[in-house]
Amino acid sequence: MELLEYMGRNEHEQLVVCHEPSVGLKAFIAIHDTTLGPSCGGLRIWPHISEEAAITDVLRLSRAMTYKSAVAGLPLGGGKALIWADSRKDKSEALLRAFGRFVDTLGGRYITTEDVGMTPTDLEFVAEETEHVVGLPVSMGGSGDTSEMTGFGVYLGMKAAGKAAWGSDSLEGKVIALQGFGNVGFNTAGHLLAEGASLIVTDTYDGALVRARDMGATVVEPDAIYDVECDIFAPCALGGTLNADTIPRLRCSVVAGGANNQLASDADGDELDRRGILFAPDFVINAGGIINAANELDGVYRPERAREITERIYETTSRVIATSREEDVPTYVAANRLAERRIESVRNLRGIYR
Ligand code: NAD
Repeated sequence: MELLEYMGRNEHEQLVVCHEPSVGLKAFIAIHDTTLGPSCGGLRIWPHISEEAAITDVLRLSRAMTYKSAVAGLPLGGGKALIWADSRKDKSEALLRAFGRFVDTLGGRYITTEDVGMTPTDLEFVAEETEHVVGLPVSMGGSGDTSEMTGFGVYLGMKAAGKAAWGSDSLEGKVIALQGFGNVGFNTAGHLLAEGASLIVTDTYDGALVRARDMGATVVEPDAIYDVECDIFAPCALGGTLNADTIPRLRCSVVAGGANNQLASDADGDELDRRGILFAPDFVINAGGIINAANELDGVYRPERAREITERIYETTSRVIATSREEDVPTYVAANRLAERRIESVRNLRGIYR
C-alpha cells in the first residue's frame, strides 16, 4: 500500500501507529480532518486478515466520520481508531489502558468512543488513561451506549427515505431486512417493531439470532439476506456489503442502515442509483451515536438535547434526497457535497481571520 499517496488522495491529516508489546497492543489512530473541530470517532476492535486491511479500514472510517459530523452540524472533525485484535478473545484492561495512553499523547486532537467490539464499560478502562473519551456510562456522568441514539437516527432516516420513495413515512406493514443484529441492529429494530414493521434478520453470531427470534423476527442465513424480498435492506453489520456481487441480488426499493461505509466503492452508489434503489447515505442516517456522544463535550450530558439534534436526521436525509434529485446526482454524491460545502466554508473563514 502506498500509504502517503492514499492519504494524500483522500486528504487525511495523520495516521498514528500504536505498538505496546507487553500487552500485545497493535493499534492505529487515523485523523482525517480537523477543520471543524477535534477529530472524534469510535474505537473498533477487529481481527482483520492483514495489516493493510486494518489500516485501510481505519483510514476509510475516519474519513466517514469527517463527513458524518459535518452533515450533522457538529463542531467535530473525523477520526477513528482500530485495535487489531479479536474482541471476544483478546480484550483486556491492560490492552485498553495501553490504547488510552496513546490517545492521551495526541492532546485532544483525537477523541475516542465506542465502535464494533467495544462496550461503554470497556471505555472506562480507556478513560483511566485519558480524558479524551466520550460515550462513558451514564453512571460516570457520560452519555452511555451510543448505539441507542444511532438506532433511533437510523429509524428516522428510514422513514425519511420511505417518504421520498413511497410518499408516506409510515413503516407500518413494511418488511425490513436487517443485516447484523448487534447493538445498532437491535436498537433500530425496537423502533421498527413499535411502528408495525416486520423484520427479516441475519447475523453470524448465534446469540444475536436468538435475540432476533425472541423479538418475533424471521431469521435467515447470512448470505441469503441479499435475496429476500423486502421494502428496505438495512446493512447494520460491517462495511462494504453493497458491492458488484450483492447489488444485483437486492429485491428492495430502499437501502438504509446503520453500518459505516456500506458502499464498497463509489461505483456501487452509482449502480444503486441506476437501478432505481434509493440509498439513504450511511453517514447521514447513522449519526445519532456521535451526536449523543458529542453532547457530553459541553461538560454536562443532556439527553433531551441529544435527542432533539438526532431528530434532525429526518430532515437532513430528506434534504440530501432532494438535493440529489435537483442536482441529478446519486444520493451519496449529494451527501458528500453537503459535507464538503460546510467544511470548505469554515476553512475559508479560518483563512480570513488567520
Ligand atoms: P456490533 O458488534 O454490536 O454488531 C455488529 C453485528 O454484526 C454483530 O452481531 C456481528 O455478529 C454481526 N456481523 C458481522 N459480520 C456479519 C455478516 N457478514 N453478516 C451478518 N452479520 C454480521 O456493532 P454495532 O455497534 O451494532 O455496529 C454495527 C455497524 O454500525 C458498524 O458498521 C458500526 O461501525 C456502525 N455504527 C455503529 C454506531 C454505534 O453507535 N455503535 C454508530 C454508527 C455506526
